[in-house]
Amino acid sequence: MIRVTHQREKCIGCGYCEEIAPYRWQMNKNDGKSDLQESVTKKGIQSALVGDDEYTDMMRSSSACPVKIIKVIKA
Ligand code: SF4
Repeated sequence: MIRVTHQREKCIGCGYCEEIAPYRWQMNKNDGKSDLQESVTKKGIQSALVGDDEYTDMMRSSSACPVKIIKVIKA
């Protein structure tokens, strides 16, 4: 498993993460920020445990994010 975290309040809504992995990232129509699907939110940070099969896409999302708010950690 891997843990993905998203510092949501700093999201600028570019949509790159959703382009890479729409099954895991979805742009929120209300405020234009990205939401990490099936995550829990604590102190503004969205966090989800996901399967190893998503590792490459999550690393690509992290690298593509212009404000570097997506972190990927081996759990
Ligand atoms: S790539 Fe980063 S800034 Fe862009 S929508 Fe995703 S989380 Fe937000």
